[in-house]
Amino acid sequence: MNRTPAASTQCIWAGEEESLLQGATQVPVVHSVGFGYKDVDEWQQVALGEKPGHIYGRNTNPTVHAFEQKVRQLENAEAVTSASTGMGIISSTLFALLAPGQQVVSVKDTYGGTNVLFTEFLPKFNIEVMLCETTDHDQIEAEIARGCDLLYLESPTNPTTKVIDIARLSSVGKKAGATVVVDNTFATPINQHPLSLGADLVLHSATKFLGGHADALGGVICGDKDLIHRIYHYREINGATLDPMAAYLLLRGMKTLDLRIQRQNSNALAVAQYLENHAAVEQVFYPGLESHSGHTIAQQQMDGFGGMLSFMLKQNDFNAVRQFVPRLHFAHAAANLGAVETTIGPPATTSHVECTAEERAAMGIPESLIRYSAGIESVDDLLADLDQALRIFI
Ligand SMILES: *Cc1c(COP(=O)(O)O)cnc(C)c1O
Repeated sequence: MNRTPAASTQCIWAGEEESLLQGATQVPVVHSVGFGYKDVDEWQQVALGEKPGHIYGRNTNPTVHAFEQKVRQLENAEAVTSASTGMGIISSTLFALLAPGQQVVSVKDTYGGTNVLFTEFLPKFNIEVMLCETTDHDQIEAEIARGCDLLYLESPTNPTTKVIDIARLSSVGKKAGATVVVDNTFATPINQHPLSLGADLVLHSATKFLGGHADALGGVICGDKDLIHRIYHYREINGATLDPMAAYLLLRGMKTLDLRIQRQNSNALAVAQYLENHAAVEQVFYPGLESHSGHTIAQQQMDGFGGMLSFMLKQNDFNAVRQFVPRLHFAHAAANLGAVETTIGPPATTSHVECTAEERAAMGIPESLIRYSAGIESVDDLLADLDQALRIFI
């Protein structure tokens, strides 16, 4: 067939065939640490990378390989590698590609752990990191012009779903000679394709939407062969290898990725619209709303607006959050996101737990902000649940 399969078909079929065994229709979980060869010449060829195959579980594994290939095909990329967590792949990428004296340009609203790498760890190695106002594209361009070896973007962001113009900044970054990296965790390969927007590398915390069931940690990155090989090489040495059992759970979760994301897109939009018209709600942040400052860019670069939103209560204090959160029946109050269950959490206990109330206010994060990761439940039940929970405020 010369027709490229649709994403829903790729979610099911892509990447698995090579790893199937003895007629099994499902990829096996290969727990073996070592891979043996009776023929020493063949062993050597595999070890030198001249022949496909596996040598040692820290480097590669058949179950992990199948998971990686599925993501690679969905991102339409040349190459892929993975790590034990999202942070495992992000830190491997930064430490593999950067050297002392180099410069990173990024934004203030990246994922909390990424922000710690930027502010605490990279500077220790004399790597300068410039963090710009997240949606100030002119400032980001000016910093790139001042010198940039790696441009690191994330869109939409956590927790206020800010949107960054990936095509515009990728083009400026690449003209300046920078490697452009995009964290696509919130959007997923169903809603956004950073590589086709001009980025060099696209990465995910597979722990979130890719796996979708909040039962396995993982990270993955796709892009051109040479860059990916450098990241793979660093990761095989730092040892943050994806576990085969986790790879299996992520692979199985991904079979329903397209289905889940379609439902999460529509549930999140309905919830955002409902909240926007609710008397107890001050403001809703969702890229699919016309009131969202990044709506036009989101329309251009996304196929769907995603399952993540956040909202601020009119009663803007933490006490309101304390009262509201336990009233919801169909929402876990937890730090994760992107699962089949609706999950909520205030930034004060999740993404921005290490900041003081004053610091959060300075970052534009109100005390009554609630992050809402829409699950795949019936939207009528989600709306009814919000309705009864918000009733205490009116
Ligand atoms: C959770 C998350 C990460 C980190 O992933 P882990 O799997 O928890 O290490 C990175 N980026 C984004 C946007 C995330 O939501």
